[in-house]
Amino acid sequence: MKRLAGRVVLVTGAARGMGATMARLFHAEGASVVIADILDADGAALADELGDGALFQHLDVTEEADWQRVVSDVLECWGSIDGLVNNAGINFSETLAKTGLADFRRVVDVNLVGPFLGIKHVGPAMAARGYGRIVNISSIGGMTAWNSMGAYCASKWGLRGLSRVAALELGQRGVRVNSIHPGGIDTSMGSMFDGDTDALDKAYRSQPVPRIGRPIEIARMALFLLGEEASYVCGAEMVVDGGNLAGRYFDGLPGAPATT
Ligand code: NAP
Repeated sequence: MKRLAGRVVLVTGAARGMGATMARLFHAEGASVVIADILDADGAALADELGDGALFQHLDVTEEADWQRVVSDVLECWGSIDGLVNNAGINFSETLAKTGLADFRRVVDVNLVGPFLGIKHVGPAMAARGYGRIVNISSIGGMTAWNSMGAYCASKWGLRGLSRVAALELGQRGVRVNSIHPGGIDTSMGSMFDGDTDALDKAYRSQPVPRIGRPIEIARMALFLLGEEASYVCGAEMVVDGGNLAGRYFDGLPGAPATT
């Protein structure tokens, strides 16, 4: 039995990157997938590639009217939205002193206001049926901090809090809400070496799992949270980071590879 058979799952930012990998995996697991993005050509091409059970919808997550239209169209077309993955996100790198107000607001708008609107408009339809799963893609940047990533970290910390509130408000109505906190993942956002995976792996070699993560490794966690194996998981924060947050490894101490 496929793990999402008969389910309808909407993924934002699904035209490429992790979102596209999730859409492919959920579709392969039997779900009807709504590929929602502002990248119309890429999103439509992915829906064509997947065929039956895949639908592209233009959705700018910051636009409330887009959410209202998409939710209404999907409910009319497929009757329910069983899963929502708030995945769309943008990055911005600059010191706080040099971050423009418009840039800060744009990051918070996409990364935090977007998921708020998704929960606001999809959550009630789920609660009315007594069934739903919402997965918010935060980041380990929502658990720690990095210099020159103030807007991004603020938005991802905020999304972590929003997830918990949503879990409290929707949990007893059959809707489980959880967040995923990826570490570095090999997508256009996570890549600093123009898609050179070997160079990226080297950049992450001090982690317990000494390489950058792959989009499928996040998609599998999202699949778990959407599925029935996660029936008692709600309001949780799932870290998928190759051990990045586990702590700092000191070379030269007893047992370190360099000294044994
Ligand atoms: P990605 O490859 O850049 O994909 C993100 C997708 O979201 C793109 O298709 C993007 O379109 C779309 N998008 C941007 N703004 C949007 C909006 N207003 N409405 C709808 N769609 C929009 O990024 P990714 O690496 O797959 O990231 C997916 C999520 O994981 C993000 O929330 C990100 O913060 C999080 N994350 C990523 C990493 C990493 O290392 N990659 C680590 C931790 C967390 P455009 O290309 O036009 O912007």
